[in-house]
Parts: sequence; structure tokens; C-alpha cells
Amino acid sequence: MSYDSNNIFAKILRGEIPSHRVYEDEHTVAFMDVMPQANGHALVIPKAASRNILDADPETLSHLLPVVQKVAKAAKEAFQADGVTVMQFNEPAAGQTVYHLHFHIIPRVEGAPLRP
Ligand code: 5GP
Repeated sequence: MSYDSNNIFAKILRGEIPSHRVYEDEHTVAFMDVMPQANGHALVIPKAASRNILDADPETLSHLLPVVQKVAKAAKEAFQADGVTVMQFNEPAAGQTVYHLHFHIIPRVEGAPLRP
């Protein structure tokens, strides 16, 4: 499958639709999910055009994981969570709905289920 530069996260990267950015560097952006499954649910995405992890090049992935860790640690502390769920979906069969590579960072409080 190919990359469609009209996807929502590409528009967020270009500043065409608003987002609440919580982190940005040369290669990566993190922003809050508009429909959070728990308080503090954030998304980490590469600036590079990658549909998902299946077509991402190794360099893109190498920049991404340290930021996933950084945002996960910051979210855990900021939201006084007991743990953090990191999720990542590839293609519709796996639950992907936005076709720009992203990691979900979801602070978790003991005993609190995710919102649907
Ligand atoms: P996926 O199912 O593709 O892994 O998750 C896509 C995520 O993007 C969902 O959690 C959804 O709430 C989030 N999302 C969809 N549209 C927007 C948007 O316009 N802005 C933000 N910040 N998040 C979005």
C-alpha cells in the first residue's frame, strides 16, 4: 500500500489542521490524541512519509523509538500513572485508521480500563 499525503497526520505535520503538540525535533512530532482512550493519550509520529511500520525505513524507525520512550516517561510522570501502554497498528486488518505511522502512548492508572 502507498502513502497518501492527504492523511490527517500529514495535514497536522504541515500545520493545516491544529494539534496540541507536546514534543518536536528534527525528525519527530508528538501530539495529544483527539479521542483519548485515557487521560494523557499522545501520539508519536515521524516527519518522514511512512504509511506504517511495514514500509518505514530503518533510519526513520531509529529516530522514533527514543522519542516513544521519552514521551512515555514524561506522560507517566505528568499524569501520575502507574504504567504506560504503547500501541501501534498496521493496516486496516490490524486496526489502523490513520495511514501515517504512529505510536500510541497511553498513561495507565491501576484498575482503570481504556475508554473505547
Ligand atoms: P489508529 O487506529 O490509526 O492507530 O489511531 C489513529 C488515532 O488518531 C486515533 O486514536 C484517533 O483518535 C486519532 N486521531 C484521528 N484524527 C485525529 C485528529 O484530527 N487529531 C488528533 N490529534 N488525533 C486524531
